[in-house]
Amino acid sequence: MAKLYFNYSTMNAGKSTVLLQASHNYRENGMQTYLLTAQIDDRAGVGRIASRIGIGSEADLFTPQDDLFAMIQGRMSQGAVACVFVDEAQFLKPDQVWQLARVVDDLNVPVLCYGLRVDFRGELFPGSATLLALADEMREVRTICHCGRKATMVIRQDETGRAITQGEQVQIGGNETYVSLCRRHWRAAIADGSQI
Ligand SMILES: [Zn+2]
Repeated sequence: MAKLYFNYSTMNAGKSTVLLQASHNYRENGMQTYLLTAQIDDRAGVGRIASRIGIGSEADLFTPQDDLFAMIQGRMSQGAVACVFVDEAQFLKPDQVWQLARVVDDLNVPVLCYGLRVDFRGELFPGSATLLALADEMREVRTICHCGRKATMVIRQDETGRAITQGEQVQIGGNETYVSLCRRHWRAAIADGSQI
C-alpha cells in the first residue's frame, strides 16, 4: 500500500539533497517520478529543485490555488508514476495536504513530502501541521547546532547577525539569513537578540 510521508527538518539540513537522491534511485531503476515544488516568487514556468551541493532537477510548480490531486492525476494520465515528491511542503495549504492523502489512498501512489517543521518564531507552518496530522510515516532530516546538539529550531538574522523575532512567516531569499539551532541556543538568541 502506498503511504504519505513527511520528511521534516530545519533550514540547511539538506532535505532537497535527500529528495533528489531518492528520486534518482527510482529513475536509475527505470521508474518515473513526479517532482513538485512551491512557486515562491513571480517566476512562471518550469520550476527546479536544487540542492546546495550542486545537484538539481526540473519540477512542476504549485501555488496555493492548485488542486494537487488533479495535477498529479493529470501527470499520471501521461504515463506511470512510481512516486511523487513534494519539496517546500511547509507551503502547502491544509486542503492540499488532504489532496495528497487522496492521491495516496485513491491512486495508490506514494507521496514523499519534504519541508520545514517550524518557522523562525518557533511556530508550525500550516502545511507542516497538517502533514504531522495526516502522514503515515514521518522522518527527521537532521542537522546540528554549532554546539553539536541536534538543531530543531531556526532563527532569521538581520545583516548584522541579530535575531529577528517579528515579521512574515515566509521570506524567500538566501540561506545566509537563517541559522539552525538547538532549542537552548534558539531561546538564547531570541531572548536578547544577540549574535550567536
Ligand atoms: Zn546549540
